[in-house]
Amino acid sequence: MKIIHNIDDMRKLVREYRDNKKSIGFVPTMGALHKGHMSLVESSKEDNDITVMSIYVNPTQFGPKEDLASYFRPIEQDKEMAQYYNVDVLFLPSDEIMYKTNETAFVTENTLSQILCGAYRPGHFQGVCTIVTKLLHIVSPHHIYLGQKDAQQLRILQKMVSELFFDVKVVPAQTIREDDGLACSSRNGYLHDEERLVAPSIYQSILLAKNAFEKGERRSEVLLSIVRSHLQKFPLVDVQYIEIVSWDNFEKIELIEKTTLLAVACFVGKTRLIDNIIFTP
Ligand code: AMP
Repeated sequence: MKIIHNIDDMRKLVREYRDNKKSIGFVPTMGALHKGHMSLVESSKEDNDITVMSIYVNPTQFGPKEDLASYFRPIEQDKEMAQYYNVDVLFLPSDEIMYKTNETAFVTENTLSQILCGAYRPGHFQGVCTIVTKLLHIVSPHHIYLGQKDAQQLRILQKMVSELFFDVKVVPAQTIREDDGLACSSRNGYLHDEERLVAPSIYQSILLAKNAFEKGERRSEVLLSIVRSHLQKFPLVDVQYIEIVSWDNFEKIELIEKTTLLAVACFVGKTRLIDNIIFTP
């Protein structure tokens, strides 16, 4: 596995791969790698000759009161994991490389990014769009692999790539879960024992809505109340939002007639967790 720290070396390597007609798959991450991240690597390895993974905790996507300083950075463990999964190139840039001081150019999506998580994390998706743009300009991959776990991020980046004519194909990947259903996340490591025990209630609530949907329930109101009333049973779970929106443009809908996103964000103790499901009638 090649480990690259700077932009020129990364570009030189990519140029060589492209000159040799190698296809490149790219998996951007913030590290603290888990099996969700590694499922993206596996998909990339199936589709491409070369898999590039980046690990970079992007400061511009964290709000002033968020967990940037405490975000897990187990870099040696991550390198071992990337090596074990046969990542070909690990790109590990520093803040100094990714951002000059006082930058004024950012990439913004201004509609889908305003609701759901965007309503509670102002600036978050601008940070995401900007860093993914920078990484795509450095890595120039054929495919970028993104998890449906972060469904809003996935949709915003799909729109960014399509509307701004990025020459890359977005490949969505399904959410990987722990045995008890909790969606794998780097932030799960923050949970105290008691919190970790109740965290699977988020996915349980989603499954209850899924069951109702499969039995024919199409009213958003009813599905939302199923999720809400399950989560109310867990005092350690503090719901930030539960929403049902169209997958296409994130408009709120009353009756599910097309592909639809049910998204949940909760605090479990001090840890913010998100999960979602896509309904396809
Ligand atoms: P992060 O390191 O949290 O920024 O995530 C990097 C990439 O991994 C993003 O595309 C995420 O959507 C994806 N990802 C995170 N958790 C999961 C999961 N449990 N299953 C699948 N993909 C995931």
